[in-house]
Amino acid sequence: MILAYLDKQVADNETVGIYLRLQRDAVQRALATAKRPIPAHRERLGRPIARPGVYLREPKVSRDNPNPPLVHTSDCKMVTRNPGEVDAHRARLALTQEFVGAEPCPICRPDTALGLLE
Ligand SMILES: [Zn+2]
Repeated sequence: MILAYLDKQVADNETVGIYLRLQRDAVQRALATAKRPIPAHRERLGRPIARPGVYLREPKVSRDNPNPPLVHTSDCKMVTRNPGEVDAHRARLALTQEFVGAEPCPICRPDTALGLLE
C-alpha cells in the first residue's frame, strides 16, 4: 500500500518534471526568437508610419519571377521584400512606365493616393 503510494508519487513527479522541462524548452525557444535581430523593413512592418509623399517600391522576387514589382504607400503592412523609398514622381513613373511594369499594391492602393485612377 505504502509502496504503491510512493511509486505513484514518483511517477507523478516525473510527469511534472517532464512537463517543466518542456516548458523550459519552449521558453528558451521563445527567447531565442525574440533575440533574433529584426531586418530594417520588418521593423516598418511592425509599426508602419505614414509619411506623405513617400512610397515604397518592392522589387521583384527575382528576374524570372512572374510577379511584378509592387508600389506601396509608406504605411502599408503588406511590404514583405526589402523595399526602396521613392517619391511620388518616381512611384507614378514605376506604375505607368511599361518597362518598369510595377503594379499598385491591392491593399494600400498607392494609385489612389497618386491620383492615377479616373
Ligand atoms: Zn501595399
